[in-house]
Amino acid sequence: MSRLSVRGVTVSLILLSWIRVTGTCRTKKTWPKTFTQEELKKRLSPMQFHVTQERGTESAFRGEFADHKEEGIYVCVVCGAPLFRSETKFDSGSGWPSFYDLMKQESVAATDDFSHGIHRVEVTCSQCGSHLGHLFDDGPKPTGKRYCINSASLGFQAKDASSAPSHPTSAERGGAGAGAGRGAVTGGVAGGGAGAGAVIEGVAGGKTEL
Ligand SMILES: [Zn+2]
Repeated sequence: MSRLSVRGVTVSLILLSWIRVTGTCRTKKTWPKTFTQEELKKRLSPMQFHVTQERGTESAFRGEFADHKEEGIYVCVVCGAPLFRSETKFDSGSGWPSFYDLMKQESVAATDDFSHGIHRVEVTCSQCGSHLGHLFDDGPKPTGKRYCINSASLGFQAKDASSAPSHPTSAERGGAGAGAGRGAVTGGVAGGGAGAGAVIEGVAGGKTEL
């Protein structure tokens, strides 16, 4: 077993060529929007960085948007490019945000992914090259497609909150306990001072939380 002699050379040759093939499989493309790794490490959470820059996958049912049902637009968390509308989000039961269509066909780039010994179609942001998730052909009508996307790759812009920040992840964290989830608390009539991030008027229920 430990004496590989001539066969050992063959094995290492195969190994070398395999490394070469997989190594050149993903040639570095030049994307319209580029960011330094240092900047992204500062700006993104460790999970957001891992998923978008290292092609990682978040745990099923754990992502911020897995069960998210607000109306609005999902954007690339790295470059802000609009990707999906909430109208096309559906419950696939997979535990990851799933969409049956894109906002624009050119929003994402699809490439073959042979990792883990299976063939899948990887979906990346066409503007910055961030890994988003995978595309499957078992989605609902009318497209029959299922874009299985990591929450960590996405930001969200609520439809009725025109002044909402472009990266709502931090804002949402701030008001997580309330469950109200409405970014735009208009007129300052928020009952219990729930701590929603967008209470700017300061006269809502006596609490001025920003
Ligand atoms: Zn992007």
